[in-house]
Amino acid sequence: MPDRQDYNVNKDLITKTFERKNNAARIRAINKINKGGVKIAVADENEVKAVKLSLESDNEISDNFEMYIPRRRIPQVIVYNIDKDIENEKDILDGIFAKNIFLVDKNKEPLVNVNCKIPTRNPNFNHWVLSVSPSIFSTLMTKEGIYLQFRRFNFAEFLNVKQCRPCLNYGHTAKYCETLDSPAGCDRCGWSKTDEDNHNNCRIYKCYHCSLARKIYGVNYGTNHSALDKKCKCYEKQKKLLMERTDYV
Ligand SMILES: [Zn+2]
Ligand SMILES: [Zn+2]
Ligand SMILES: [Zn+2]
Repeated sequence: MPDRQDYNVNKDLITKTFERKNNAARIRAINKINKGGVKIAVADENEVKAVKLSLESDNEISDNFEMYIPRRRIPQVIVYNIDKDIENEKDILDGIFAKNIFLVDKNKEPLVNVNCKIPTRNPNFNHWVLSVSPSIFSTLMTKEGIYLQFRRFNFAEFLNVKQCRPCLNYGHTAKYCETLDSPAGCDRCGWSKTDEDNHNNCRIYKCYHCSLARKIYGVNYGTNHSALDKKCKCYEKQKKLLMERTDYV
C-alpha cells in the first residue's frame, strides 16, 4: 500500500496516471501542500475539469490533490516623457484619475496602478509604467493618449522582456545571473569576450540567439545584428511569450 502522506508518492502516482491516460490537458506545475497533498497548476477551467476527471476516475488516486490556475500577468503600459516635477506616484494617479474617468470604476476604485518610473536621456522627463486592469486594457489602447494636468501623453503597451547583459540570455537580469563567474558573452559576435581568437575578429555582427536558433531549430533567422537588438527575431519571440502569459480578458 503506497504511503498517501508522502508527497513524492502522490506526485509520482498523479504524473504516471496522467501520462497513461494521454490527456489533452497539460499539467503546468506540481507543488507540495500539507500532509503529502499535491497542488496541480493548469491553464484554465477546462483543463481543471479535464485533469480532475481523469484523476478522479482512477481508484489508485486519493482525493489529496488540489487544482489551481496560476495568476496571469497584469497588462502594463508605459507613459512617455512626463515632466520631472510630477515626482510621486500619488500625483500621477490623482492627475490621471481627474482627466481619464474611465480609469476608475463605479465605486471610484482605481483601475490602474503605478509600478515604477524609468529615467529618460532627457533630464527633464521620466517615463512611468502603469499596470492596467484587464477589464479596461483594450479600451485604454484605443485612446490616443493619457491626459494629465491638461496635457496629453503618449503611451504604449509595456512588455518588459528581461535580458541579462553579461550572459545575453532572456528571462533574468544580471542580478540573478547564474553564469556570472563564467565569462560574459559578446553581444556583437556571440563569442565569449575572453575567447581571444574568435572575439578578436568581431567586426561583423553574429547574433548569439539567432545563430543558436538556426543551429537547434533549423530556422532561417538573419544573424547580422547585436544579441541585444530589439528587432532580433528571438527577442520578438520572447515578447510573444510574455503576451501569451498576459491577462487581456
Ligand atoms: Zn545571465
Ligand atoms: Zn565579439
Ligand atoms: Zn538575433
